[in-house]
Amino acid sequence: MEYSYIGIGSNKGDSIRLIRKALDMMDNGPGVKVTRVAPLYRTQPVGYVDQPWFYNTVAEMEVEITPFQLLDLLQKVEKKLGRVRKIRWGPRTIDLDILLFGDRIIRHPKLTVPHPRMGERAFVMVPLSYLIPDRDFGGRSVREAARALMDDQQVQICKHDI
Ligand code: ATP
Ligand code: MG
Ligand code: MG
Repeated sequence: MEYSYIGIGSNKGDSIRLIRKALDMMDNGPGVKVTRVAPLYRTQPVGYVDQPWFYNTVAEMEVEITPFQLLDLLQKVEKKLGRVRKIRWGPRTIDLDILLFGDRIIRHPKLTVPHPRMGERAFVMVPLSYLIPDRDFGGRSVREAARALMDDQQVQICKHDI
């Protein structure tokens, strides 16, 4: 058994319902059990900024399947919840990214773990720091990495009741 952390984002459709549904569908996946979910955040889009604010959170799960099986499950859930890929980093009903999978390092065309852009993203690191504040992330704690992003990026991000 290993723990995996999944970054969840939505800024299209009924985002809160979609996130709840995604959590439920992941929890019902074979060999997957959702153990904890960080608070939900409202976050300002970064990069491609001309789109609605996002809802973001991170889920912790116990997994007894392989990383590629987990990726397959996440992509099926995305598809069922109406994810279509038009503009890269554009509006989406649901995005489910594998941030961490145990301590594994995976470099494959279809799957990179740890997620290659997570360390630049406050909307990932802030909710993740709620779940695993003391875990090492490139020589400092997840909490310190999240704090540094908040200080540097002036990005607006606030807790939202679910
Ligand atoms: P970003 O990866 O920058 O967050 P995105 O989530 O919008 O962008 P997607 O369109 O959801 O990108 O995914 C594109 C591809 O990324 C997927 O088809 C998948 O094979 C690949 N991928 C690589 N590493 C991961 C990972 N850790 N989690 C999820 N998908 C990944
Ligand atoms: Mg993503
Ligand atoms: Mg994705």
